[in-house]
Amino acid sequence: MQIVMKGVRIGMSLINPFRLLILIGMMSSVPLPGLVYAWGAAGHQTVGAIVDQLLAGSHAEQQVRKLLHTGETLEKVSIWADCAKGYCHAPLSEEMQTFVKENPHRHEYHYTDIPFQKMEYETGAIGTDRNDVVQILRQCINVLRGEDTPPTNPHHFTPRIALLLLAHFVGDVHQPLHVGNAYVNKDDHMTVSRSQKQLDSQEIHSTRGGNYLLMNKSQSLHGWWDTAVVERVMHHAHATTPQELATDLLQAYPDDETGSAYVTDWPIRWAHDALRYAKSAHAHLEVGPRAAAQDTKTRAQHFVWSLTVPATYGEDMKIIGERALVRAAVILQEPTDGGGHNYGL
Ligand SMILES: [Zn+2]
Repeated sequence: MQIVMKGVRIGMSLINPFRLLILIGMMSSVPLPGLVYAWGAAGHQTVGAIVDQLLAGSHAEQQVRKLLHTGETLEKVSIWADCAKGYCHAPLSEEMQTFVKENPHRHEYHYTDIPFQKMEYETGAIGTDRNDVVQILRQCINVLRGEDTPPTNPHHFTPRIALLLLAHFVGDVHQPLHVGNAYVNKDDHMTVSRSQKQLDSQEIHSTRGGNYLLMNKSQSLHGWWDTAVVERVMHHAHATTPQELATDLLQAYPDDETGSAYVTDWPIRWAHDALRYAKSAHAHLEVGPRAAAQDTKTRAQHFVWSLTVPATYGEDMKIIGERALVRAAVILQEPTDGGGHNYGL
């Protein structure tokens, strides 16, 4: 298929750059300290379902189908990147096994850990990584646009793999805690980490995207954002499936605006949006006291902190979660809509 960037301006009529981001990360219902998951399956599948509905009957849908296998939809493949991590209670496909073999740092693709107090993502700054979600999204977009090739891109992504990853990571980068991270100082106050030295000397600790911040004995702040907020959105919409929620959200947010930045800069803009959400997600939370804990996987020692959360937190954050899901979907559609902008599919 021809993948050519036809323009640099994003269409303003149908899709919003905010919609595509929220699809992917809802794997952990129980917060396991030390693990960083993305939106749970329902969140990612809802983002994919929204895009499937937006693309139905379009030329772009035909182009997307050329990269998908028979029976696949964006809703279904939105969790491919998590399934490749073994989270889907199913054997890894041959394609996933190849991906796993060729991508030893694949677990890092799903997030970045910028201090949530920051306004912007800066490449190379504390919390960023050359394999973080922003960099991987940029690489996927470049491959889909034909500006990079499987042999030359850093991880040898094919256009199909780039689409599968894009469908997931657009969701992840809209989960506020996949971008904005809380760092805690010796006095158990949230602070901004300014150097790697502060982290190495344990003057300041990372909370691993809120995985080390506990709302109660069995629920981390990260886990709450991965699953509980989406459950709340679904309950509010009286939706029982991602398709039903997709339909409801499209009615609630029919004309989100799109941006006009150059498409490969979108991932950075999405990170900036997520940082805004992350500030709200951490506002009015009280941290402490700390307790010693051990990573269930690596056995590494670390701390966890109890949180005091405002009574209205769930309802307040529901609105942010709703918005983030829609934005993720719109963004995902933009790159795939074939409207003369975007990914040129
Ligand atoms: Zn993920």
